[in-house]
Amino acid sequence: MMQCAAPDADVIVVGAGPAGATIARLLARAGVDVLVLDRATFPRPKPCGEYLSPGALRLLHEMGVGERVEAVAGARLRGFVMHAYGRATMCGTFGTASGWQQAPPYGLGIGRRALDAELVALAREAGARLLTDTRVTEVVRRDAAVAGVRALRESREIALHARLVVGADGVAGVVGRRLGLVDPRPRLRRFALVAHVAGLAGLTDYGEMHAGPVGYCGIAPLGAGVANVAMVLPAGRMAQIGTRVADFFMETLTAFEGIGSRLADARLLGPVQRTGPLAFRARRLAVNGALLVGDAAAFYDPFTGQGIYKALRSARLAAAVVVDALSADDMTQNRLRAYERAYRREFRAVFAVEELVQRLLGHPALLCRALRRLAEHPQMADTLVGVTGDVLPPRRVLTPAFLLRLVM
Ligand SMILES: Cc1cc2nc3c(=O)[nH]c(=O)nc-3n(C[C@H](O)[C@H](O)[C@H](O)COP(=O)(O)OP(=O)(O)OC[C@H]3O[C@@H](n4cnc5c(N)ncnc54)[C@H](O)[C@@H]3O)c2cc1C
Repeated sequence: MMQCAAPDADVIVVGAGPAGATIARLLARAGVDVLVLDRATFPRPKPCGEYLSPGALRLLHEMGVGERVEAVAGARLRGFVMHAYGRATMCGTFGTASGWQQAPPYGLGIGRRALDAELVALAREAGARLLTDTRVTEVVRRDAAVAGVRALRESREIALHARLVVGADGVAGVVGRRLGLVDPRPRLRRFALVAHVAGLAGLTDYGEMHAGPVGYCGIAPLGAGVANVAMVLPAGRMAQIGTRVADFFMETLTAFEGIGSRLADARLLGPVQRTGPLAFRARRLAVNGALLVGDAAAFYDPFTGQGIYKALRSARLAAAVVVDALSADDMTQNRLRAYERAYRREFRAVFAVEELVQRLLGHPALLCRALRRLAEHPQMADTLVGVTGDVLPPRRVLTPAFLLRLVM
């Protein structure tokens, strides 16, 4: 007869990014024995635009940790300015659209080293145990259910067992892939280059998005004259990089109409990080003994800057289902699918807005027209940034009236 290993924890969380650290904290606070595994040690960099939306900040305040996070942020962002092809510009301000409630009228420019380290510290303070430098390589199955993981730690393979495994391991996540949950069809073939830049002229307390023929670029001020600059480019263009990553980054930046003239004193602080392909989707989010949260569940494109919000929110949705499942001692997919249903209800319209934005990005003339409309009708621009800022419901911009006004 097969020996059953004693569990090392009630729940193993793979990945200690915003999704993993948040679900770990919520479960630990509910009295669950949680073990978090991450291949990195914290603080660690993560390629990201480093903008935290007002809705994400609201979630953090609701969880009682908003002040801790605000204390390590570099800047408050009052909204977003968007430029397209040197032909159109619009500005949307947080907190001014009707229906804006219970969320700060600002987002944050916040380095991921600081944000993620703070969220990890909060999880540990709540009682979650953390093993860093521990790379999960495989999922352990027993009786048609997930029963743990295998990992490499200090060059040794270890096996760890739990009643439930949470995959919070990001877009290249091992848990979803080993379970065969990942949709293999590529969606958007894009890559990103991200760097901190000092001396970029003309920074304000608004985030910036620039669309142009080479791709798009986001700028998030991080305070002290430093900005996060994140470029998203088609895969074909990335093939031209070779080893000259920093030169390629600065050259490509000059090609954006609203940025090129501001680079005279600009210099890179540290290396350019690259990541991609970006788009990714799991077909199912829950199986017997395991579920997926954050980017490990789905990631489309970073343009609207909603990834951290989705990581935090999905962690919260999952934590509620996991606490129920543990107390009923039922980790079957039938019970865990309650999370999948909640996730789809919550994010279906969010993904529809992301898709809409992608359609506009793919049609420069339409995009420029939409930006001009938004500039003519500032309340529409404020509504749009309220939706992408994760405060207003997506249906506010998915009405025929809003969409027609945007493009007609
Ligand atoms: C270019 C770009 C710009 C972006 N800009 C923004 C933005 O401005 N605002 C925003 O809200 N979102 C942005 N996003 C999205 C955001 O970065 C993600 O949605 C967010 O980080 C998701 O959090 P997560 O916890 O799910 O995953 P992650 O943050 O990716 O964390 C996953 C963790 O899992 C660990 N891990 C991975 N594999 C293993 C393994 N095998 N074993 C152990 N540990 C493992 C990693 O070390 C990592 O710590 C951007 C994304 C990109 C690519």
